[in-house]
Amino acid sequence: MKLDTIITGGTLVTTSGRTRADLGIGGEKIVAIGRNLASVSKDARIIDAKGLYVIPAGVDVHVHLDLPFMDSNSSDDYNTGTRAAARGGITTVVDFAIPYGEETMNQAVDNWFKKAEGIACVDYGFHGTITNHRRHLPELPRLIERGIPTAKEFMIYANMGWQSDDDGIFAALEECRRLGAMLMIHAESSSVLSLLTSRVDNPEDKKKYGARLHTMTRPHYVETEAVQRAIKWCEVTGGKLFIVHLSTGPGADLVKEAQGRGVNVLAETCAHYLVLDDSVFGRKDGHLFACQPQVKTKADQKRLWQGLRENTLCNVSTDTCTFTTRQKSIWNGDYSKIPMGMPGLETLLPIVYTHGVLKRQLTLEQFVRKCCTDPAKVMGMYPRKGSLEVGTDADIAIIHPTRRIKVDWHKMETNADWSPYQDWELAGFAETTLCRGAVIVEDYKFTGQNGHGCFVPRKNPGNQ
Ligand SMILES: [Zn+2]
Repeated sequence: MKLDTIITGGTLVTTSGRTRADLGIGGEKIVAIGRNLASVSKDARIIDAKGLYVIPAGVDVHVHLDLPFMDSNSSDDYNTGTRAAARGGITTVVDFAIPYGEETMNQAVDNWFKKAEGIACVDYGFHGTITNHRRHLPELPRLIERGIPTAKEFMIYANMGWQSDDDGIFAALEECRRLGAMLMIHAESSSVLSLLTSRVDNPEDKKKYGARLHTMTRPHYVETEAVQRAIKWCEVTGGKLFIVHLSTGPGADLVKEAQGRGVNVLAETCAHYLVLDDSVFGRKDGHLFACQPQVKTKADQKRLWQGLRENTLCNVSTDTCTFTTRQKSIWNGDYSKIPMGMPGLETLLPIVYTHGVLKRQLTLEQFVRKCCTDPAKVMGMYPRKGSLEVGTDADIAIIHPTRRIKVDWHKMETNADWSPYQDWELAGFAETTLCRGAVIVEDYKFTGQNGHGCFVPRKNPGNQ
């Protein structure tokens, strides 16, 4: 047996437990797991993982890279965004290809391929985006053929021409059921949100409350009402529904209750909802933290962690959408003009590891399940991604059990010149990352190659 690389002496961690074993890599695949592999393949490169955890690399199924925004783009493209992913121990990202104007879903996918090809450093996939169900739903079969069996609808963003109303959600769920696809939903209640924002749409309130208006105009029911409605359409159509970036505890209750009744609904949460709360909007730089939906309260954090433990929530994503402090500064005191989104790829695994595993909110195995294995399963790329099995892609992160590194955006790969977690001491950064057999992070530094990343076709989503 010819092995190119052998990871020796580490503790392999999967969803089902831990084993002390060497892991042998040939080409892009894991080809052997066992003891003393170095003795059978003498000229292989050895990576010493003694005292370290060897896990399937992270899979982030909710990112936005190179997203057009006003006259520019979000600040991380497929190069810096995937470098950040690598350093965070993530080797697969799934982005949303969004049609603009009269574009078809498949044209949007073509556009996103152009953004990624030749510069992505880790593997990538795309979700479709349905902004007009009459025009876009007939395209779903072609999308599925291209390895994209998931598409998102937004329940808000009428002003951007992206919003889907109940008929669009209903029709998409029916079609997803027929074709074996999965509908993803950004669940917030558009008309009530508009009403609440219109009430503070005046210079006095904007001056008085600043960035806090972002949270004041989005009470929990803005999310929960929409979650409830989406679940209803899921239930009556029998379609598969995936609620993206769930931010509220009561939202998790609704998902749990529906799952208990056999409704085919899954939900993810994001790292920032697990560790940040809305007190950030009172900070001087509070506007930087604006994202949609916004971070909620400590009680929500607690409920979301519980949701992960009880498998109401299947995975943790980042919803990475970076803007520099300069891009964010165009808000100029008006919360409604803040470019929404935060960086997260570099810190996803460290946040969930440090605040989950080290704070005993999750076991080590649950951490692997929520950040690596289940996102791959749910989005239809398991076991190629998210596993440590012979025959699968050698996508691996090696992490130190306790060593903490202080988060400092100056030293990060992202183009964002700030981090929501600046100066936090986090463990769980990848000491080494491999993507399809290639070492792309060594000693915590990115050493990969532009263009190494390739497209990952997916099928049969929605299974946990
Ligand atoms: Zn998003």
